[in-house]
Amino acid sequence: MDMDKLVSLCKRRGFIFPSSEIYGGINGFWDYGPLGVELKRNIKDAWWRDIVQGRDDVVGLDCSIIMHPKVWEASGHVGGFNDPMVDCKATQQRYRADQLYVFGLSAKNQPPTDFEVVGGTRKLGDWADFWVSAVGASPADAWETACPRAAKLLKTKPNRLEAPALAATALYMEIAAEDRIKILAPNADEPGTLTAPRQFNLMFKTSVGALEDASSVAYLRPETAQGIFANFKNVVDTGRVKMPFGIAQVGKSFRNEITPRNFTFRSREFEQMELEFFCHPEEAAEWYAYWRKARFQWYVDHGLKSDKLRLRDHASDELAFYSTGTADIEYEFPFGVSELEGIAHRGEYDLGQHQKFSGKDLSYFDEERWERDKAGLGHNSFKEYLKTREGKPNPGYPYQYIPNVIEPSAGADRATLAFLCEAYKEDEVAGETRTVLKFHPRFAPIKAAVFPLVKKDGMPEKADAIYRDLRKHFAVFYDEKGAIGRRYRRQDEAGTPFGITVDGQTLTDGTVTFRDRDTCRQWRIPADGVVQALRDLLEGGAIPGGEGS
Ligand code: ATP
Repeated sequence: MDMDKLVSLCKRRGFIFPSSEIYGGINGFWDYGPLGVELKRNIKDAWWRDIVQGRDDVVGLDCSIIMHPKVWEASGHVGGFNDPMVDCKATQQRYRADQLYVFGLSAKNQPPTDFEVVGGTRKLGDWADFWVSAVGASPADAWETACPRAAKLLKTKPNRLEAPALAATALYMEIAAEDRIKILAPNADEPGTLTAPRQFNLMFKTSVGALEDASSVAYLRPETAQGIFANFKNVVDTGRVKMPFGIAQVGKSFRNEITPRNFTFRSREFEQMELEFFCHPEEAAEWYAYWRKARFQWYVDHGLKSDKLRLRDHASDELAFYSTGTADIEYEFPFGVSELEGIAHRGEYDLGQHQKFSGKDLSYFDEERWERDKAGLGHNSFKEYLKTREGKPNPGYPYQYIPNVIEPSAGADRATLAFLCEAYKEDEVAGETRTVLKFHPRFAPIKAAVFPLVKKDGMPEKADAIYRDLRKHFAVFYDEKGAIGRRYRRQDEAGTPFGITVDGQTLTDGTVTFRDRDTCRQWRIPADGVVQALRDLLEGGAIPGGEGS
């Protein structure tokens, strides 16, 4: 599937527009149009329904976007949420290292520290290919010679979209200062205008209150998760939850990405759907396995069935130091394989950090476990038990502990983009090519469109009455303009699963035609049964005359 075609369909049909387009747009920001807002909302609602409302062990939260700045010190975002970037002294532009161009490298020398200018320009990311063709080495060997760190990145993330860029960044970081003068920045007239790589923090800074000084600095949240950790104690104190349990949140996050790209895939403002699932340390491995599987299945169940969906476990040297397991759910977008959602076993890291930075006790007393075991232990009170454990590093364990966290963290915009890519099809209907978005009915922005076959003989009135009736229950659309074939085609492009047409026969026997978007099959049902018929179909009922009917 061609990404340009999807982007243009999204614009033309009102799924996604560039933000502030009348002013030339703003890089990394997007607006959802009338169809897009319904699609994304349906995805978020389905997630919420399945993760929160459909379970009895997860509750929801809606936290503020701006939080106390100490939150981001505790989480590590102030110190470590960085990308390496360089500034160009000539053009005042800022680049991620992988965007830079290098004068051609001489094949006889050993890069990256020993190369000479041979003319022409070359992207750092393309450098391995150049080396391969010049010396006949395999790509892996070429990177190995040039930069072992980059080679390792390529090995651990073999199919990752950004692996070459990450590797190129690693390569750039290793280029000695005296050799940087040979690098030509984009749009610069001569090489040598770039600064040394610097770490660039991805959090958007703002200030709170009338005075702008160091004490007023605050950040737009780069993830929703920290609001959940900061409220852990509050939620426990409501008494509605007991271990194991989860807290979920859906909301905007902001990252000042140096290179936003690939449509909405990497944006500077985006929405996350995050679950923090808290459990006893001894049960964490089991819950990690559970969520890893359950989250993958969620995408499959909603239509990402093809072999484009993958579950990739991080290699041990890729894991954050506090994590004992992380898996990415990846999708093969037209621009490459990339992450939709990460599921991480985060141990007690997050609550431990907030306990340390806030000075508040964030441990959990597992009353159920204590009540279950106390007789067997021969203690009447927990206090007594604690006395016997004096001097131990975790005297309250296994009854009082910092819970472990399993975090499935998904992006609503990336999910929306993946479902759009998967749904997009071009096929032949009656000798004509049509574009159709084959969304799962749960996600389709419009569930059914109602049409009068022609604009006379009382058909519009009858169709309008059916539309009004359906509108009380579903997102539906009424269209009486143009030839019926064109109207069907317009709805195919919007991803509407069903068409309901009032025609000549409706006026004589009271039935209407149903049309299925995917197969274009048609069948008739009584007009007064459309609400129930549509409900059955949306809930997975078989299409009359279709397979399994
Ligand atoms: P990446 O490696 O692609 O930058 P990440 O590993 O930093 O992603 P997380 O911090 O784990 O991402 O965020 C969880 C989820 O939030 C991601 O799986 C993704 O769906 C979404 N997400 C993160 N950054 C962006 C972004 N810039 N634009 C859109 N969605 C994003």
